[in-house]
Amino acid sequence: MNKPLILVVEDDPAVRNLITTTLETHAYRYLTAASAEAAVMESASHNPDVILLDLGLPDMDGIEVIGKIRSWSRTPIIVISARSEDTDKIDALDAGADDYLTKPFSVEELLARLRVTFRRLNDAGGDMVMNSVFTNGDLKIDYMAGCVFMGEQELHLTPIEYKLLCLLSRNVGKVLTHTFITREIWGSAWDNDVASLRVFMATLRKKIEADTANPRYIQTHVGVGYRMLRV
Ligand code: CA
Repeated sequence: MNKPLILVVEDDPAVRNLITTTLETHAYRYLTAASAEAAVMESASHNPDVILLDLGLPDMDGIEVIGKIRSWSRTPIIVISARSEDTDKIDALDAGADDYLTKPFSVEELLARLRVTFRRLNDAGGDMVMNSVFTNGDLKIDYMAGCVFMGEQELHLTPIEYKLLCLLSRNVGKVLTHTFITREIWGSAWDNDVASLRVFMATLRKKIEADTANPRYIQTHVGVGYRMLRV
């Protein structure tokens, strides 16, 4: 199997070096781009497997780069942002990014995000056909029948909890923002929808997590949203 090819978009040479050294020692191939323009060009001509995208680029807004790339490609994009760019990070996820890393990040964090992304790619199997049954650890969702099981036990979810669980499972491995989730569930994204979302998430977790203080299936991204993890 070919080594995965990662496009590293980062204008800061020190951070770029850290990333490329890490990739090299972990058997990834990489390309680099130090500007938005180069990023768009490289991703169009080399079709990388994953793009690591710094949001603070000298020539163009990172969000705009995502928009351009998303117009022709579904390649996973992991955004790299400084803590001061928190709102940008959320906009980036809403624009079609898959995940994010906040600077400063550790090499382990970077590798973990890549593993999650590759797992997601493998799960998708390259096709767009939706399976009618979803399984993840002990969790099983039968989309056709509208039933949810934890092991042998059938769970009784409210319609909103069920919609929420389906949305997260259809996007397993991907961080979904509050705005995205509330739009999908309620068709709007008011502040009180985000408050409702928290309430529904709490009741859903009580039903699917053995220990709600240490959730196994659904990860909270404070101020950003939620992600279902592959367990
Ligand atoms: Ca930068």
